[in-house]
Amino acid sequence: MTRTTDVASAFTHRVRTPLVRLAAALTAVAAVLASGACSRAAGVPPADLVLTNAAVYTLDREHPWVEAVAVAGGRIAYAGTAGGAARFRGPATRTLDLGGRMVLPAFQDSHIHLIEGGLESRLCNLAGLETAEAVVAAIKDYAAHNPDRAWITGGRWELPVFPKANPTKEDLDKAVPDRPACLFAADGHSAWVNTRALKLAGVTAKTPDPPGGRIERDPRTGEPTGTLRESASGLVAKLVPEPGPEETLRGLRTGLEMTRRLGITSIIEANAREDLLDAYAALDRSGEMELRVLASLHVDTDRGPAEVARLRALREKYHGARLKSTTAKIFADGVVESHTAALLEPYLDRPKDRGLPLLEPAAFDALAVALDAEGFQIHVHAIGDRAIRMTLDALEAALRANGPKDLRHHVAHLELIDPADIPRFKALGVVANFQSLWAYADPYITELTLPILGPQRSRWLYPIGSVARTGAVIAGGSDWPVSSANPLEAIQVAVTRRGPDAPAGPAWIPEETVDLPTMIAAYTANGAYLSHEEGLRGAVVPGKLADLIVLDRNLFKIAPWEIHKARVLLTLFEGREVWRDPAF
Ligand SMILES: [Zn+2]
Repeated sequence: MTRTTDVASAFTHRVRTPLVRLAAALTAVAAVLASGACSRAAGVPPADLVLTNAAVYTLDREHPWVEAVAVAGGRIAYAGTAGGAARFRGPATRTLDLGGRMVLPAFQDSHIHLIEGGLESRLCNLAGLETAEAVVAAIKDYAAHNPDRAWITGGRWELPVFPKANPTKEDLDKAVPDRPACLFAADGHSAWVNTRALKLAGVTAKTPDPPGGRIERDPRTGEPTGTLRESASGLVAKLVPEPGPEETLRGLRTGLEMTRRLGITSIIEANAREDLLDAYAALDRSGEMELRVLASLHVDTDRGPAEVARLRALREKYHGARLKSTTAKIFADGVVESHTAALLEPYLDRPKDRGLPLLEPAAFDALAVALDAEGFQIHVHAIGDRAIRMTLDALEAALRANGPKDLRHHVAHLELIDPADIPRFKALGVVANFQSLWAYADPYITELTLPILGPQRSRWLYPIGSVARTGAVIAGGSDWPVSSANPLEAIQVAVTRRGPDAPAGPAWIPEETVDLPTMIAAYTANGAYLSHEEGLRGAVVPGKLADLIVLDRNLFKIAPWEIHKARVLLTLFEGREVWRDPAF
């Protein structure tokens, strides 16, 4: 027996039994129907495209597996047997025999910074570099190749590369002595700056920490050491020249190219400011945006409920064929690695420090009540257990004040949930928007998180399984460019709780693994639900938009640690081919 078989059978036991039975029943029905179905039946409009001889996982509870789909006018006209789909064939119908390959509804990424990711791919990129020397060398190289840039910007340096995730200005001065440099960490919550940048910004030992931020300092002299946390990064970042509209559009186009390739046809833009909204709106008007975008409007929490009127105007302005801006985005805290996530109990290495909530509970409640009353869906960044509790309290306050409104508020990241709060997602109708690619024991966890949380709390890191078992709706997103946007990697990690490249082995916190159907739903049907578009898409059901993908293998028939190797061969957006793998 190979390991593959063992795991495959475990999987079958856990997940597939009812589906297998249904698939067998459908195959039997197909055999009956196929016998008399070779030409288009009278009265049936011809399809533009028929996908046949496929393993179509429909996300339709009644018929989870079918073998063929007919597409007409951008919508699914039929999903069922090969014989049934053949009835939709006309003289102009294209037929793709998929040789048993898998078809799924196209993916939704429910938390992505699409334009910023696209823009960033042109900046200094330090992602994945594993030593401080390699990072400094890469910056030096980028600076040498970009002599015209007044600032060296970009980043994505990995926090564990530097002791205490705390790189110094001296290190950066070695790479960029002649110009200011401001390089953000992989998680976006810390900025690493050089001496020139600190000087330009006038940040010295006398500069106080701004609200919601921290300047890392030499404990003896108070001198800034070169790392700025959360809002403190703004002291320097505000001086960096903004990309112009042309460059922003280029960033969006780069992002669109990536989403098509990964089979993503809908997104929730995680933090939309006006320059980004302008870019989305421009490509939506020109018809270039082959992607449905739900923009989460950035909320300036300092302005409190006064923000609502401004957001309402943006919601009206940025509304188009494939763009809507009906969501408000609130940051509740920072991240664990830099001690800025808001915790219920202190960090182990800083006995008085419980992190940094970015707004007070009463202010949070008032803001949530006001946004909910105006019909805004609320999307919250919350990582620490205290931030998550504050968020659920605020959403509960909104529910109590305004009554149920089916706005489908959601919380993204959800790194450390106190067990007492786990049932509240289901109870309050709040969607749990996980970035499951982070849910394994990489150095972010082993070196920067476990030591400062301790084993007891760490049991509740990314408790996807526990939240799923309560019956709450689970959605999935990448947070790209923080980490890879490939949904298949995130799906795999949620199932295995091991690195995307890791072979078979024990799961990290095995109680929190989830099954494959849960994760496919998170990236398809539940995404559509979160975007209030479940009537429109997210399942392979007649009448829904033909946003479909073809994968080179059936995810249910491979070992779970191979899921990330699956490739998207074809992406259909409203029935139109927007990506085809050159090898397909
Ligand atoms: Zn984000």
